[in-house]
Amino acid sequence: MTDLARDAYIDGRWVTGARFEVRDPFDDSVIAEVTDCTDADVDAAIAAAARAFVTWRAQPGPARGVLLRKLGERMLADEERLARLCVRENGKPMKEAVAEVRYAASFLAWFAGEAERTYGEIIPASDATKRILVTREPVGPCAVITPWNFPYAMLARKLGAALAAGCTVVAKPAAQTPLGTLAMAQLGAAVGIPAGVFNVVTGTRAGAIGARLIASSAIRKLSFTGSTGVGRDLATACAPDLKRVSLELGGNAPFVVLADADVDAAVEGALVAKFRNTGQSCVAANRFIVEQAVAEAFTSKLVAAVAKLTTGRGDSGVDIGPLIDDKASHKVAKLVADALSKGATLAHGTAPSGQPGPAHRLVAPVVLTGITPAMALWREEIFGPVVAIRVAADEADALAQANDTEYGLVGYVYTRDAARQARFADGLQTGMVGINDGLVSTAQAPFGGIKQSGYGREGSHHGVEDYTQLKYVAQKVG
Ligand code: NAP
Repeated sequence: MTDLARDAYIDGRWVTGARFEVRDPFDDSVIAEVTDCTDADVDAAIAAAARAFVTWRAQPGPARGVLLRKLGERMLADEERLARLCVRENGKPMKEAVAEVRYAASFLAWFAGEAERTYGEIIPASDATKRILVTREPVGPCAVITPWNFPYAMLARKLGAALAAGCTVVAKPAAQTPLGTLAMAQLGAAVGIPAGVFNVVTGTRAGAIGARLIASSAIRKLSFTGSTGVGRDLATACAPDLKRVSLELGGNAPFVVLADADVDAAVEGALVAKFRNTGQSCVAANRFIVEQAVAEAFTSKLVAAVAKLTTGRGDSGVDIGPLIDDKASHKVAKLVADALSKGATLAHGTAPSGQPGPAHRLVAPVVLTGITPAMALWREEIFGPVVAIRVAADEADALAQANDTEYGLVGYVYTRDAARQARFADGLQTGMVGINDGLVSTAQAPFGGIKQSGYGREGSHHGVEDYTQLKYVAQKVG
């Protein structure tokens, strides 16, 4: 592949060294050999981010916004190449990869605007001789750790907000998908983002790299997207230095269909909420909770729709690509087998084998009914193309079932009744609610969770605020 960036990007320079292989999850072919960063590389990136912070924060917000906007525009101009790269390293279908590039670019455009609007306040003082000024300052150099499932988008949501606020970034992408992040660094350099403002450290030693970033007092914030267990450990490690932390963690989203729902709309929403990125999304519908009266209609219509989904190589026009690795396909197979052994019914598809090897990573959609809380998939993220349906006796039962989880990222509900919509909007214990909507993510809205799904928000003006700290200035004027 021409133009493919394979080296780490530190202080405006491409840094080579020992290499690790990045493989295509569809067939295990090697796409590239990428720099496996050493501790010294990580230290150099931290030092560069600290140096660059001094001048970057001093730039007017609109000037920072210009560069962010240009980066977003360059991504769009290059969307075909970026999407193909994402298909190779992540496996997702091409149409979804294109959508991800556009979604990522939309965050850069949004935060370019927000860079112009990090407003302060003047608060009326009780003392006539004083003025109370409140300004927003950037928190400082930030460590940004992202997962493999949306390589561009997860980075853009953090990078855009951080750079808009005046922070600098050391990004650590997942070892399985570093190429998209490096491609963004390449475009960032092309549009003139100054050296040291956006650094990328790549590598296979995630724990050591994370620990190094956290150990440095120059790093003032960690923004992490990934699993709840790792996020919890990283937050603990950040505590002694009192670093700011944002955590976008796992989900276990309920998808509720009430008796009065438009069943066809619910099926349409379910397809998006469940199968995007082959089910490997933190906002994926994990538990379908369907009121008795429409359970049969919803299940049969969903099965008919699911039967049309095609599976294969991401760039061959399919709806569903391979799972990311053998661990993922083994986990999905184990969850399906566990459910079947505890009495679930296979309404569509066949139980995946869970065997190692690329052929077994292509998991065709499965629909299970008769789900109970005793089954592991009720508690755990499935992260695969498996629909798990449980019947609810009534609205109250559906809401109680929906909240029966330690996670709280997003909940979906389908109902035409305004009062029921309001009760679910208020009653769902989640950071986000989709009402008759299976796709809630957008740059204008605050994305994030509660409970074991983490804290902090990405997108909207709240996304920038997460990278700022307030300063109060008391000014004697009389
Ligand atoms: P993960 O294992 O926690 O990995 C996420 C990132 O953390 C990767 O860059 C990984 O690097 C790195 N990492 C792993 N162990 C680390 C450690 N000890 N110290 C520092 N960094 C470490 O998560 P995953 O399983 O790949 O990703 C899927 C999870 O992310 C799911 O739970 C999903 O729900 C969640 N997610 C949440 C959101 C959200 O916005 N709430 C969005 C997307 C995904 P390596 O890959 O190189 O090991």
